[in-house]
Amino acid sequence: MEGWTRRQVLAQATIAAAVYTLDPHELCCGMNAYAQTASTESFELKKVGDGVWAGIAAERYKVNSNAAVIETNDGLVIVDSHSKPSAARTLYKEIQVVSKKPVKKIINTHFHWDHWQGNEVYAQGNPSLEIIASEKMKEALLRPNSGVGGVPFIETQIKSLPGEIAKLKDEIQKAPNAATKARLENNLQQAESYLKELQNLKPAVPTRTVSQTMSLQEGGREIRLMLMGRGHTDGDLYIYLPKEKVLVTGDAVVDRMPFIGDGYPEEWIETVAALEKLDISQMIVGHGNPTPKSHLVFFRGFLTELVGAVKKHGAAGMPLDEMKKKIEEELAGKYESGMSKYEGGRYRDRIGGNVEQVYGKLIKKS
Ligand SMILES: [Zn+2]
Ligand SMILES: [Zn+2]
Repeated sequence: MEGWTRRQVLAQATIAAAVYTLDPHELCCGMNAYAQTASTESFELKKVGDGVWAGIAAERYKVNSNAAVIETNDGLVIVDSHSKPSAARTLYKEIQVVSKKPVKKIINTHFHWDHWQGNEVYAQGNPSLEIIASEKMKEALLRPNSGVGGVPFIETQIKSLPGEIAKLKDEIQKAPNAATKARLENNLQQAESYLKELQNLKPAVPTRTVSQTMSLQEGGREIRLMLMGRGHTDGDLYIYLPKEKVLVTGDAVVDRMPFIGDGYPEEWIETVAALEKLDISQMIVGHGNPTPKSHLVFFRGFLTELVGAVKKHGAAGMPLDEMKKKIEEELAGKYESGMSKYEGGRYRDRIGGNVEQVYGKLIKKS
């Protein structure tokens, strides 16, 4: 791929093996997990079935999605490609340690920036690569103002990043201690290199779309592509391996607080309930470690109680700011610890935003 020599591939494989042993959540001294070397994207490959791996993304200032890696008799199928080409390249190098088969297909779960912006790496490596997504995902990808993703959103990010970088520089000047300063400096390096990657991005969009649930018979393996209705976005695609009982969910299920800004909260609850009917041994979720099926019940419970609380307080005319504080405390006992396992997407950091997003969609529709 990309014309690498065998020697380069071997050298990269050695690096990948070293990266593999480093669990980013076990980094020393309680340091913010973002405080890794700025140039180091990293994934941990976790086997979840015979020939099936979860590529679990380490925390980064500019978040990466997880990937699913599915080996078939004649090649690899990879689900999602992260926020940047450098991340996709890193995962590809790690995959080389477990399989040298060519990447035949990429599947994108939804249009958000952190799930598809690395597609070009695989497209450059294989001119006949198929990139599969739902029809709605491709529409959203090409439409202006779809939300936080899509081809036009690349330009939006390029415009907003200099402001973000200036803010980080200002925060570095005001940092109260050396640890905070080091973390912010690392974030600054990551933001600057992300901007460079965005400026050079060659968006690789889906070459094949699906508009209803179907199965791929892929080198001796059944890969079911499932459309279950609207949820995290309009056009969420689920990837289900019936033999291995592995479900890949994208951000429709995550092991942290969800992002609801482009979502359909009430339909999302129904969609998750429908997923619970599947026979599942493990799920590769959009962000966070692989989870058992029971996580669906927990995640649906959170969405259900969040929507219920916003509707209840909204009907009573409670102002949004008061509602945010109220619901934060109301749901904390049941959901704070389960939703705060990682550095990113913690309960207290996200609940206010979640309340506001549901409020905007269900109570005060703008
Ligand atoms: Zn995501
Ligand atoms: Zn998303």
